[in-house]
Amino acid sequence: MYHVWRSEISRTSCGHPWTREACATRRTNLLLELTSSWANAQQSGMKVLEYLKLNQATNHFLHNDSVNSNFLQFHHDITDECCEDDKQHSWAVIERQEEIIMYGPYYPNYSSREHSEDLVISQTQELLESESFFEDVKVYIFTVNSPCLARYANPCMLNLVHKALEWWNALGVKTHIGHMKCLGFKGTRENLFQGVNYKQVECVNQTVDYESYVKAAEMSTDLNLLCETVFSLLKRLLGPQQENIYFAATMQKQDRKTYFKSMRSIFESKPAHEKKILTQRVKALIDSAEVLLSMSTESLQEYLERGRVFTLGYTFSSQACDAGLEDIMRLAFQQCWRDLVQDKCAEVIREKLTEDFNHCALQLFIKNTGNITEQFLQIGKLRGLKGSTVFEKKMKLL
Ligand SMILES: [Zn+2]
Repeated sequence: MYHVWRSEISRTSCGHPWTREACATRRTNLLLELTSSWANAQQSGMKVLEYLKLNQATNHFLHNDSVNSNFLQFHHDITDECCEDDKQHSWAVIERQEEIIMYGPYYPNYSSREHSEDLVISQTQELLESESFFEDVKVYIFTVNSPCLARYANPCMLNLVHKALEWWNALGVKTHIGHMKCLGFKGTRENLFQGVNYKQVECVNQTVDYESYVKAAEMSTDLNLLCETVFSLLKRLLGPQQENIYFAATMQKQDRKTYFKSMRSIFESKPAHEKKILTQRVKALIDSAEVLLSMSTESLQEYLERGRVFTLGYTFSSQACDAGLEDIMRLAFQQCWRDLVQDKCAEVIREKLTEDFNHCALQLFIKNTGNITEQFLQIGKLRGLKGSTVFEKKMKLL
């Protein structure tokens, strides 16, 4: 039911005096070629890593003021009718002269592997097919997280660019996609940084370049070699000194307990009644250490010092063991505390690398496709929405 273009010779967006059909076909083929390379998980992941190595993932693609304020107005109207929430959802608006058609919000149904964008796409398609749209039609698609670049099949971002092209070719519709948070790849390629543990962080910190890192890592028995790109990214992130890394060491109570499990080995061989008392002492010590894990953002050294000061100042109850055993318990606590804080530090670093990687994936995708899609598709982060500008940083670099 699409409006069919008249076959006419004109100077088209390709810059060539081709027919519109030829131009559209060429554009479709170029886009297909590009998106199929993005659909290849291995290839696109490596491409993004290389890009990230050369570019800092700092800038977001933003919409111009008028598109952004349209999104804000629609967002306001839609959230007036349904509750606002940060969970992934999408809605869309078809705007044509003196008429606005709003639909959504749609929520993903992960059990049936359906993303909210799938629903938005099919609803938009249905509406565009059922009405007679001719001139100056715009589609605004909102999604909390930017459309995914990876999933079991047909990532939403790739579906959307193809649909946007189809709508443009058939109806001259312009599509705007606005998101609050950058999702990029999700899942499959996020294990790129799983080898970055605290020992790696230390090793990278202590070496000047990849060559010296390789030598140091080979001498160590428990370090798997990071690839050169991941090494460079980590080196850049850490900066000249690891002391520059500040983070908030928060974690679940259950996770915390696992770190202090090894303290039990101190009195494993003691008689049962003594073991029972000591278990209580250790429990009391760990419970008191709760205050050490506040929400405050501190450096690794500050966290370690916190733990040291805490153990030195801690008073065991009168029934506690002899002084020798107390010292052993203090030392064991400090070791567990060190492991916990170092693991947390490495985890925060992995999260930051992953976040930069995902941010960069989106940047590169928009940049790659921009030449072909600029006439009919804009993808960008929205400004002025709760959660879209204030980005919670768990880690900061001074
Ligand atoms: Zn998706």
